[in-house]
Amino acid sequence: MIRKKVLVTGGAGFVGSHLCERLLYEGNEVVCLDNYFTGQKQNIVHLINNPFFELIRHDVTMPFFIEVDEIYNLACPASPVHYQYNAIKTMKTSVMGAINMLGLAKRIRAKILQASTSEVYGDPQVHPQVETYWGHVNPIGERACYDEGKRAAETLFINYYKQNKVRIKIIRIFNTYGPRMHPNDGRVVSNFIMQALRGNNITIYGNGSQTRSFQYVDDLVEGMLRMMASGEEFTGPVNIGNPNEFTILQLAEMIIRLTDSRSTIVHMPLPPDDPSQRQPNIELAEKELGWMPKIPLEEGLIKTIDYFASIS
Ligand code: NAD
Ligand code: UDP
Repeated sequence: MIRKKVLVTGGAGFVGSHLCERLLYEGNEVVCLDNYFTGQKQNIVHLINNPFFELIRHDVTMPFFIEVDEIYNLACPASPVHYQYNAIKTMKTSVMGAINMLGLAKRIRAKILQASTSEVYGDPQVHPQVETYWGHVNPIGERACYDEGKRAAETLFINYYKQNKVRIKIIRIFNTYGPRMHPNDGRVVSNFIMQALRGNNITIYGNGSQTRSFQYVDDLVEGMLRMMASGEEFTGPVNIGNPNEFTILQLAEMIIRLTDSRSTIVHMPLPPDDPSQRQPNIELAEKELGWMPKIPLEEGLIKTIDYFASIS
């Protein structure tokens, strides 16, 4: 068997750790690169004794040289709390990280996949979101460092493809949850589960009528592998998300029920530019990748609740 050598940037983060695990399981050699800004060694500690796993502390804003067959570029904080903490650094990570990884892919002729996001659609006026929709993003708002950074990264990817024939893949990931999200990550699923388990108030921002479509992490990882393996002419962008849409209030009520919690719901101010709705159209992923998510929200939440209960 020929082992592929695969680089995963942001590999010690929530999604990256699941991806590294799956790539090793599939018989690949994995190099995990991370600066540990939002990721942690704890997420990949169970992989460290695997001789085909290598861990490198590095920041993607700096050039990096290695010989690999494939690159998954995930390095970037994903929670609004963390990406707004140092907005300039977030934008540098997306843009300079993309330039450095694309330059590397070009030099070593590796295939490279970009973890883009539904945030490129901003506060969408087309619903559900299709890949041909250009989005509705405030370029100077609180979320711009992330949204515009990811949009610029997509531009870089597509132009390295057109100008330099780099084999690129772009996926637009919709809200994903699961074990190994950081308990203080600030995203809604981890916040609500931790609050429910501790009997604290459940903090709904705004009236809770805004919607999100939540995808379990295993479904995302399957989509990532299928996209990387897809034909060279299919660059994406392609939406990878679960189209089952819920209001944030429905999510809170489901988590309270599943944890049998006595927590009560409180309302807090809605952050600026918070998207009012989000739901992927996944017809392109179904057609090109034969992919669709399998794990319903309730089933995925039960696994995630078990994880948070085990670490708290
Ligand atoms: P995460 O914060 O858990 O993981 C990001 C990882 O990148 C962390 O390990 C962090 O330490 C690392 N990192 C950050 N800046 C870096 C830098 N400059 N150099 C090297 N490493 C750096 O977030 P996640 O949910 O695992 O997201 C992974 C990727 O998927 C991100 O690119 C994110 O934008 C994208 N994405 C995630 C979601 C989601 O719902 N989880 C949705 C859309 C897109
Ligand atoms: N949210 C909330 N309470 C929280 C955290 C988030 O009501 O404790 C809301 C947030 O305002 C947004 C939704 O949940 O409308 C999803 O937020 P998250 O930060 O998880 O992701 P994103 O906004 O990037 O989709």
